[in-house]
Amino acid sequence: MELKLYDTLSREKRAFVPIDPERVRMYVCGPTVYDFAHIGNARPVIVFDVLYRLLRELYGAGHVAYVRNITDVDDKINARAAERGISIRDLTEDTYRNFRDDVAALGCLPPTVEPRATEHIGEMRQLIERLIASGHAYVAEEHVLFSVGAMPDYGQLSKRPLDEMIAGARVDVAPYKRDAMDFVLWKPSKPGEPSWPSPGGIETPGRPGWHIECSAMSWKHLGETFDLHGGGIDLVFPHHENEIAQSRCAFHTGVMANYWMHNGFLQVEGEKMSKSLGNFFTIRELLADWPGEVLRFNMLRTHYRQPIDWTVKGLEESWKTLDDWYALAVEDGQEHVAGAVLEALSDDLNTPRMLAELHGLKTRAQAGDRLARGEFVSSLRFLGFLRESASDWAARRHVSSDIDAAQVEALIATRTAARKAKNFAESDRIRDELAAMGVVLKDSKDGTTWEIAR
Ligand code: AMP
Ligand code: ZN
Repeated sequence: MELKLYDTLSREKRAFVPIDPERVRMYVCGPTVYDFAHIGNARPVIVFDVLYRLLRELYGAGHVAYVRNITDVDDKINARAAERGISIRDLTEDTYRNFRDDVAALGCLPPTVEPRATEHIGEMRQLIERLIASGHAYVAEEHVLFSVGAMPDYGQLSKRPLDEMIAGARVDVAPYKRDAMDFVLWKPSKPGEPSWPSPGGIETPGRPGWHIECSAMSWKHLGETFDLHGGGIDLVFPHHENEIAQSRCAFHTGVMANYWMHNGFLQVEGEKMSKSLGNFFTIRELLADWPGEVLRFNMLRTHYRQPIDWTVKGLEESWKTLDDWYALAVEDGQEHVAGAVLEALSDDLNTPRMLAELHGLKTRAQAGDRLARGEFVSSLRFLGFLRESASDWAARRHVSSDIDAAQVEALIATRTAARKAKNFAESDRIRDELAAMGVVLKDSKDGTTWEIAR
């Protein structure tokens, strides 16, 4: 089975060939830890978790190194800690723990290493010194800047026209920049801000820019060149473009990573998610209403490179499907992961096709095919589903529903009386009222029963 992945750098789907199959190396940009992660942030975490699981299946669980960093030095962190009157360390540790718990609830495996930026300042300084020595960076007004002009093939990843990049960079015009496109590797800290001894002979203590963090952490944990680098599509420019510039110029290499993968954006009910629109959801908020497996399933219904529209309708459908699938869960499902599932994933993580394959297996399993049933269950476990017992799963329906059963029974009694009195307008009205509450009625000759709509 050949794994093919779409590479943003070459703009094509290519066969994945690791540098060393004994140690396949993947780096994904992780969270800046100042607040709860939102459901958009969950997308790269879930997508690259699926890829991590696939790589472990293909190369062996002990032969894949997955590094996802924690950005724990950032202006937003400083501001939030001051606002809350707590130390930066307390804020970042607390936020990291919440993130770790949230993504575990989404069924994501912990990465092999989760390096913290503040624990790699030494590596960042070393990289910056190298870049200054090779003429790729310069010191100006206590800043160190990367000189984009010193790298002739800058811009390969985003392939933006130069004038567009310059216009983008101009947003942040600073008088000390030789060129508008030059970006910050190191900056001075004001009193009270986190600071470390500066590189480049600068006396004032300072702190790193964002891009250099990932070049330093990927170097430390994966080496100068590694297999795969991932993140959300918004990171292509400037973040990943600048990571490439730093790493390639510091190590004099032709590539930083051999494959670059980017997930599309998530929007909510057709609109960009934003606090001002009131459609901004943290993972934590959603977990209060929906099982983590439902959120995970819903994420995988869309191919990772497509934009995803996050809707309540989609979540309800995902829940209903998982209910059906849980009904087939068996403890003795010790089969292999289905070949068709691995094949769909090997086609640039085609999760919609993979779910269609699972539906096919389910149908065969329901028809009594024991092998299909075993493969179905094993595949779902491999994908991070069926983490609960079938009875715990079924019980969630009742816990999360805030429908008052006594009120429903009372309304049904009133409706039955209305029907007896041939007052059909009233009985229909009550049926609609119940439907609006999420209750579906079933009339039979033995009376009326009800269930929660799904
Ligand atoms: P940030 O905390 O903004 O640096 O984002 C962390 C990760 O989440 C990055 O990989 C982003 O590309 C990704 N991300 C942020 N917002 C969204 C979104 N709405 N949809 C998909 N991915 C997102
Ligand atoms: Zn990064």
